[in-house]
Amino acid sequence: MKAAILHGPRELRVEAARVPEPGADQALVRVAVAGLCGTDYSIFSGDRPVTYPRVMGHEFVGRVEAVGPGVTTPRVGDRVAIEPNYSCGACPLCREGNRNLCLSRTAVGIDVDGCFAELVRVPARCCWAAPAGVADEDLMVTEPLAVVVRAVARGQVRAGETAAVVGAGTLGLLALQVLRARGARVLAVSRSARRFTLARELGAEATHAVADGPLEEVARGFSRREGVDCVVETAGTPEAVAHALALVRPGGRVVLTGLPHDPTSVRFFSVVRREVTIVGSMIYQDEFAEAMRLVAAGHVRTGPLITHRFALDEIERAFAVHREPASIKVAVIL
Ligand SMILES: [Zn+2]
Ligand SMILES: [Zn+2]
Repeated sequence: MKAAILHGPRELRVEAARVPEPGADQALVRVAVAGLCGTDYSIFSGDRPVTYPRVMGHEFVGRVEAVGPGVTTPRVGDRVAIEPNYSCGACPLCREGNRNLCLSRTAVGIDVDGCFAELVRVPARCCWAAPAGVADEDLMVTEPLAVVVRAVARGQVRAGETAAVVGAGTLGLLALQVLRARGARVLAVSRSARRFTLARELGAEATHAVADGPLEEVARGFSRREGVDCVVETAGTPEAVAHALALVRPGGRVVLTGLPHDPTSVRFFSVVRREVTIVGSMIYQDEFAEAMRLVAAGHVRTGPLITHRFALDEIERAFAVHREPASIKVAVIL
C-alpha cells in the first residue's frame, strides 16, 4: 500500500509500505478521506516529537477491509468514522467511564500509525458506523465535531440561552452550530473578521473581532443582560481564555476545549467574585454517534469547512496550504 511516512521533522515521503495485519479485536480500514489538523502540522514540523518513522493523520472515514479474530462488529464492507484515541480499559478512570482521561491513552497518527495511508489498522471498538446517505467528505470532521459536542454538553447549554464561541477555526465553526442545535443564540468572537461571513451563514447571530471593542460590552449588548450564559473557548491561546472570562456573565459557565500550551494568567478574583464555573473538556467519550447524527439531520454543515483537497501524493502541498490563512480544513482524498 501507499503511505505518507514521516522520517523526521519535515521529512515526509509517500512510499510503499507493508499492509498491516489486523490482530485480535482489530479492524483494517481502507481510508476514503482524511482531514489535516494543527496536531498533524505540529508533528510534521517537529514541534511535537513522535517516534519515527510514523504515519500521521487521525481524522478519517473509510471502509472496513478486513477484521481480526473475534471481531463481530464492524463487518467487512461497513463504512465507518474512526475514533482515533483509545484507552487502556483497565485503570480506575477507564472503569468509571472517563476513558478520555486515561493516562495510558493511545492516539492514532501520533503513538501508532494513522490515516495518511491507503490502509490503517485500528481497534474494532474505534469504528463507528457511518449513517447512510451522508457523503464521506461530510463525515470527515466527525472527530473535531465530537470534541465540540462534548464541550457544549460540558457547558450544560439549554435552549433559549446565549452563548459565545471564542475562535473561528474548525472547532469554533462547528461549536457554534452545535450550540445553535441546542437552541442557544450564538455570538462568534475571533481575533480576525476573516471567517465571520461563514460563521453567520452557519448560524452565528452576531460576530465580533476582538480589536473592535471591549468584550464585556459586546456580551452585554448581545445577551441583553450581564454577559452570555456560556462560553466555549476553542482557540487554545492564553489570550482566548481571558476573552472567554470577559464574555461570560456572573454565574455563567466557561468551557475550555482549545489547548493553551503556554501558561496563562487568569484573574481568579473575578472568577470567585462572579461565581464563574470553568470546566475543561478533553476530546470525547461517546460523542461520535451524536456528532454524525447532527450531520445526518442537517443541524451541522461540515461541507463549507473543507476548503482544499489533495491526493495523497500531494501531501506536502497539503501541509503547506494548511498554514495559509484561506484554509480552514484541508482534505486528503485517498
Ligand atoms: Zn485533529
Ligand atoms: Zn485507562
